[in-house]
Order: sequence, then structure tokens, then C-alpha cells
Amino acid sequence: MSECLFCGIACKDIPADVIYETDDVIAFNDIDPKAPIHCLIIPKKHISTMNDIKRNNSAVVGLLYEAAAIISKELSVADDGYRVVMNCNKDAGQTVFHIHLHLLAGRELVWPPG
Ligand code: 5GP
Ligand code: ZN
Repeated sequence: MSECLFCGIACKDIPADVIYETDDVIAFNDIDPKAPIHCLIIPKKHISTMNDIKRNNSAVVGLLYEAAAIISKELSVADDGYRVVMNCNKDAGQTVFHIHLHLLAGRELVWPPG
């Protein structure tokens, strides 16, 4: 997926402000943050949308949530709280078609989201 922006970030061809990394997962600050803390947690292997999560690639989704738990503690927002969200396709506003968990924190987040 050489034309995929987040594959480019995962393999370090495209620069990003990386805050967490394992063999399977990488997290970096969002370029246009919607909260004081807004990072994106992605699998290094390309998966286009939530609809493409299958038995043979779903294990990494747990690792995205594990990363969110670790990052929230590292950034000292675990106790106050945070939101993780994955947008899927047009109605949810997905703009980058490589799955990513948004982690938002540092202010009170309204519910329901728009
Ligand atoms: P989506 O709308 O697909 O759920 O979220 C895509 C996110 O990627 C947006 O919050 C957007 O600001 C972020 N984004 C888009 N391009 C870049 C980029 O080049 N670098 C970084 N760090 N974030 C990006
Ligand atoms: Zn990709």
C-alpha cells in the first residue's frame, strides 16, 4: 500500500510525531488535534476500514486498545478519562483509509459526539 499515508508513517517514509511503538502498532500525534491530547494509534500492517477486520487480522485490534491504555497512563489522563474512537467510512467521517484509533483527552468530551 505504497500510496497509503499511514503505511508511509508506519514505515517512517513520512514523518510523524511518534509517541509509542511496538512491533505491531505505532501511535503519533494527530496533525490537526481536536483536543489537548489527540493521537492516532494504528496497526503497522494495512487494514483499510473497520469492515475489513476479520478473524485472521483482528488480534491487532486488541493491541490498539492496549496501546491506548498505556499511552493514557503515560500522558497522565487515565484517571480523568479519555475517549477512543474509530471512524468507519463516509457517515462516520473516515478520511484516511488505514484503520486508526483516535485517542482524545485533556478536556471534557461531549456525548453524544456529532
Ligand atoms: P479520520 O477522519 O479518518 O477518522 O481521521 C484521520 C485523522 O488523520 C484526522 O484526525 C487527521 O487530522 C489526521 N491526519 C491526516 N493527515 C495526517 C498526517 O499527515 N499526519 C498526522 N499526524 N495526522 C494526519
Ligand atoms: Zn495503510
